[in-house]
Amino acid sequence: MQPSEPGLMHQIVEQSPDALLVVDDSGVIVFANAAVTTLFGFPSAAIVGQSIEALVPERSRGVHQRLRSGYSEAPETREMGARLVALSGRRSDGTEFPAEIRLAPIQNGGRHFVLAAVRDVTDRRRISDALGAARAEADSANKAKSRFLATASHDLRQPLQSLQLLTAALARRMTEPALAELVGRQQTAIVSMGDLLNSLLDITRLESGALQPTFSAVSLAGVLADLEQQFETLAAARGLTLDFAVTDVWLRTDRVLLRQLLQNLLNNALKFTATGGVSLSVERAATGLRIAVVDTGIGIAAADIARIFDEYYRVDSPGIESRGFGLGLTIVRQIARLLGFTVTVQSAPGAGATFTLEAPAAALIKGDAAGPAALAPLYSGISAVKPGLLIVEDDAPVREALALMLSSEGYPVRSVESAGAAEALFAESGGEFDVVVSDYHLGSDETGRARNGAELIDVLRRLAGRDLPVVILSGDTTSALESVKSLPRATLLRKPADAAQLIAAIEQLFGGCLLCIKKKRPGLRATGRNAEELLRLWR
Ligand code: ADP
Repeated sequence: MQPSEPGLMHQIVEQSPDALLVVDDSGVIVFANAAVTTLFGFPSAAIVGQSIEALVPERSRGVHQRLRSGYSEAPETREMGARLVALSGRRSDGTEFPAEIRLAPIQNGGRHFVLAAVRDVTDRRRISDALGAARAEADSANKAKSRFLATASHDLRQPLQSLQLLTAALARRMTEPALAELVGRQQTAIVSMGDLLNSLLDITRLESGALQPTFSAVSLAGVLADLEQQFETLAAARGLTLDFAVTDVWLRTDRVLLRQLLQNLLNNALKFTATGGVSLSVERAATGLRIAVVDTGIGIAAADIARIFDEYYRVDSPGIESRGFGLGLTIVRQIARLLGFTVTVQSAPGAGATFTLEAPAAALIKGDAAGPAALAPLYSGISAVKPGLLIVEDDAPVREALALMLSSEGYPVRSVESAGAAEALFAESGGEFDVVVSDYHLGSDETGRARNGAELIDVLRRLAGRDLPVVILSGDTTSALESVKSLPRATLLRKPADAAQLIAAIEQLFGGCLLCIKKKRPGLRATGRNAEELLRLWR
């Protein structure tokens, strides 16, 4: 078909689904096709000879004229005023519709015209308005969620932190064995509640990629001993055996996240097992470390194995009472990715399940001089002398609980509520403190400037003339804390931190400092007797 066939061009233009108009340089319509009649409701004959502004709502005629004269100065194929105004067409009955107008210049017999293709974009506008409204709603829901999380994070972490420390102090004073046992269990439950709170808050951050793990030297045996204690009552209550075959290995990893990951696997193993039991084994492999959680439970069908790590995916398992939300394994997968681990599953219906966690060789810490294992004899040598602690915390209940717990562990403790007070006390006491335990956000000083733990330790180190060790506690997991991670002799702990974690961090930092002095003075032996001398040299 050749467009040059007589009448064909006319038919193409006349029958075009877009409304086509040709307007001369004074704005008079010289041609309108059939679709113009359909769109505007005017018969073509009534439109030709009219001003184009007759098809525009009265209130926008001035704007339209200006756009038109602007176009005649720079005619090119383009959309009319799209970025400037929302254009509307006016039908013969006075109703309006949102319009998209595309323009092209035409020349004929030495005269200039403009070809305009007009489309009714009511549907598109409605969809885009609905999308905009949905996005605004989602944004506001997201903001509300973030606000809730920030509040939950702050308002729950602080009292939980106090509760953990007070229970640890209580456990210390409990001499009656039966009561001590009860408080011990209470302590485990509170610690697990703290971890759980963290994980609930973390899933949002895991999903958004905002959560970054805090790597430190972690004793696997320590984590597993906690978990064994946490799950033994549950296993016994369900008539199941719980068997941990543990080798102590130190890993460079995030303790809370590793514990959360293993906790989820153990929780599932017990939940989906009715008879027999659950065992956990640790095995060194050429590629690194393998931790296997094995159960004798209901097992998983091949078709489900591919999906159990998906969000909210649960298999309908008759006879299983406690149902979760199908998030446990999603958290496992996301944490494993963050920590550089892989998780695999082997299972068949009725044949139990084995979840294997593999840590790469790079995550293993060798027992060299810098490793925690090498410091252990030094700790026992100096255990007679406890480092003097300076606690800096603006939240009074947490400050008091910290002081109470640490002093009942035998540490000489002074505590203050602000960075300014810490500097004053440090100067006044001649810098007799050995380790600083500080909150990260310390409120404002007298001049109204917000202070943080990293800035404070910088000042105290200059006053002391040595790399005073510091444990920074914070509920904040944002990038603001990156400055702490790069500080030498500093350990970052997330609130709520349990007492054992805090003490381990203090001892490790302090022991590391004494080890440095011992290296400089090889003749010195770190024993209880010369610990005082080491301390004097350190100070
Ligand atoms: P849930 O909260 O349902 O436990 P998870 O994400 O932890 O959610 O697990 C998803 C599903 O995977 C479970 O509903 C269950 O069907 C299956 N599953 C997980 N662990 C085991 C296991 N050890 N034995 C059998 N099925 C399991």
